[in-house]
Amino acid sequence: MSNLDRVAEITLCEDHAEASCIQALPTRDSILGEAMVIRRALPQRERRMVGAWCFLDHFGPLTIGSSDGIRVGPHPHIGLQTVTWLIEGEVFHRDTLGYQQLIRPGQLNIMTAGRGIAHSEETPAEHGDHIHGLQFWVALPDADRHADPTFHHHPALPRIERNGMDITLLVGEGQGEKSPAHMFSPIVGYDVTLTDRGARAFKLNPEYEHAVLLTDGMITVDSEAMTPSTLYYLGMGRDALTISNELPARFAIIGGAPFGEKVILWWNFVARTTQEISQARDDWEAHRNFGEVKGYDGPRFAAPELTSRFKAR
Ligand code: MN
Repeated sequence: MSNLDRVAEITLCEDHAEASCIQALPTRDSILGEAMVIRRALPQRERRMVGAWCFLDHFGPLTIGSSDGIRVGPHPHIGLQTVTWLIEGEVFHRDTLGYQQLIRPGQLNIMTAGRGIAHSEETPAEHGDHIHGLQFWVALPDADRHADPTFHHHPALPRIERNGMDITLLVGEGQGEKSPAHMFSPIVGYDVTLTDRGARAFKLNPEYEHAVLLTDGMITVDSEAMTPSTLYYLGMGRDALTISNELPARFAIIGGAPFGEKVILWWNFVARTTQEISQARDDWEAHRNFGEVKGYDGPRFAAPELTSRFKAR
């Protein structure tokens, strides 16, 4: 998806990893399109990044009914990877490289923006009744952020069934598996479904900072009750979590080595300087450098105005 805020404020990401902790950060509601409720879990004022993860939207669950579902017209990205993961439903992706790709639950779309790409995302004509999913952005390290854009669809990912958990490894390495998704910094992402009630350990890399976001149900992690609509930052230094539940539940765990580079988020751009943001905005508005998304039935997004706070930097 996309950041469709009409007023885009600059977000400086320079927070520091904490030691093992639990920091509960309520998500912020936003609307995507006409009726899609989005819960924005990252960035937040108190927590800009978790490893290289710099943006996280939980969208739906929504009954599509007679509405169009998702309709996010062409918009640009620089300096990041988008990671799209569905829990229910379908989304059709088009980009300026010419890729047209349907994604379904269990599959992963990774779009590496590098120096610049634009894409659209929409509910296809033939679709189920519900849409529910997660979209993440991952900041690219300085050495990789000017590379050519790429897009990859992964039709299947490693699945681990263990101790009443059904774990999908989205990106990175963990639980003895390795995701096929190509990432550019030490990072991990899981989707975990709990079907049976119980308590069990979930191994973590203690060199990473981690966070948990519930998408369904509730769980207890190390005696902290966790519910949807809150991102739980866990800090670094943990080699395992104790996760317990009474009812079925589903959640994402994201983690990574502290990113160590100051990044700037503005609208759909991740950069290092306001000049880069301003240049990318001008390029998009002038139809330069990003190319055109072909086949989307609707207008491209206009970039927000640069705010006075932005210009003052
Ligand atoms: Mn997007």
